[in-house]
Amino acid sequence: MNNTYYGKLIFELSQPGQVGYSLPKSSYPQYSLDQLPSALRRHSETLLPEVDELTAVRHYTNMSNNNFGVDTGFYPLGSCTMKYNPKINDEMAAHADFATLHPTQDTRGTQGALRLYDEVQRSLSEISGLHRFTLNPYAGAQGEMTGLMIIRTYHLRRGDAHRTKIIVPNSSHGTNPASAAVCGLEIVEVKSTPNGTVDVNDLIPLLGDDLAGVMMTNPNTLGIFETQIPEIAKLVHEAGGLMYYDGANLNPMLGVCRPGDMGFDVMHINLHKTFSTPHGGGGPGAGPVGVREDLAELLPNPQVIKKEDGTYDLYHNPDSIGYISGFLGNYAVLMRAYAYLLTMGGDQLSKVGPLSVLNANYIKERLKDAYELPIEGLCKHEFVYDGLKDKSTEVTTLDVAKRLLDYGYHAPTIYFPLLFHQSLMIEPTETESKSTLDAFIEVMHKIADEAKSHPEVVKTAPHNTPIRRLDDVKAVREPKLTFKDL
Ligand SMILES: *Cc1c(COP(=O)(O)O)cnc(C)c1O
Repeated sequence: MNNTYYGKLIFELSQPGQVGYSLPKSSYPQYSLDQLPSALRRHSETLLPEVDELTAVRHYTNMSNNNFGVDTGFYPLGSCTMKYNPKINDEMAAHADFATLHPTQDTRGTQGALRLYDEVQRSLSEISGLHRFTLNPYAGAQGEMTGLMIIRTYHLRRGDAHRTKIIVPNSSHGTNPASAAVCGLEIVEVKSTPNGTVDVNDLIPLLGDDLAGVMMTNPNTLGIFETQIPEIAKLVHEAGGLMYYDGANLNPMLGVCRPGDMGFDVMHINLHKTFSTPHGGGGPGAGPVGVREDLAELLPNPQVIKKEDGTYDLYHNPDSIGYISGFLGNYAVLMRAYAYLLTMGGDQLSKVGPLSVLNANYIKERLKDAYELPIEGLCKHEFVYDGLKDKSTEVTTLDVAKRLLDYGYHAPTIYFPLLFHQSLMIEPTETESKSTLDAFIEVMHKIADEAKSHPEVVKTAPHNTPIRRLDDVKAVREPKLTFKDL
């Protein structure tokens, strides 16, 4: 599509004197702006676009058409679980009986909302095998921070102030070391074996009396199941540390196994990945944190409690680590999770994991003739190629990702994890049909063929998008943050 309005900034459509509104004549006596105290007046010209209503409508409608989402096409972004989230969950989250509640309202008028919180909390406990959850954190990374604050406080209260070392695998998501750094912990990396799992031999010498804990993701960010967790958990516990589970990748585990049973003490879950909140573009999300029984008193405030008479209340526990968010977190995200849990039910929920694993393995096997598969064998919900198999024309992972845009697909995650030079990480999720996967496989094969026969076409992609290939380095070094120089 290409028209006057497409791909333009609204300022570029501005024409002096155009207006898009007409206000009714004021029934109040007219005051002059000069009567306002000088301090309250703006002294420079306001730079606002001057457009008529139809131009504004066309501008924003065209902008919305530029947006790629799960609702417009296949979105195989690794480590992100971009699955379809049924619309009924959004409808439920907008329900006026909940949406109009005020967080400081008397709890006698918010019993239903507190019950919903309590039931989501209990469901997550059952799904994950951890004793109790807080739903207050706003994101996965904030969940990690909350969990690490709990681990740190646990050690401090036992008089173990010197336990400040957090071990993270070199395949970990970037938020893991970042959260540990925010908590003032010392980060030590443990290596992976050639088959992508944590190297236990590299881990053992790192375990000492300065150990706070080990953060693990399972399946890890390569989509591989860490089979040695029981052994690792035993070693870490013997060394006095706690096991932290990054549960952002919980999707393939649903209904199959539980982190609590594997020996994890603290974990977070990304409701916006696994439990039906559309995400991308920065939020909103929720990163509930679950803990084993003896850590429950440390969970952040406020806590929702069910009293003996069956009613609910908010509790501000003096032994808690404190407050990490206002009130009860991103409540609408909890509502979507609740609607998702109830509409799926236990039977359907336990198909999520196996189907997401099936879809990932299907793509992985069908494309490994054209793309380099560094780690063979069964993957879980996602997997990583190390670029094209035939690298003779020097077509890179970035080029393949850009070319996919021309064919109407969102690009997979690229250059992460850092273990390979040309990482291309694909996660199809359980909500995609076989025909969607087949169409994607066909396009990926086509791009691999183009890389051989017409490499320039791939290297200069995208060709059909409103904006062509950007100069990433220049965008970082000389960002243009306003529409014109002010
Ligand atoms: C997405 C993700 C996170 C971070 O979650 P946010 O909500 O983006 O902060 C952490 N770990 C893993 C493995 C993830 O995939």
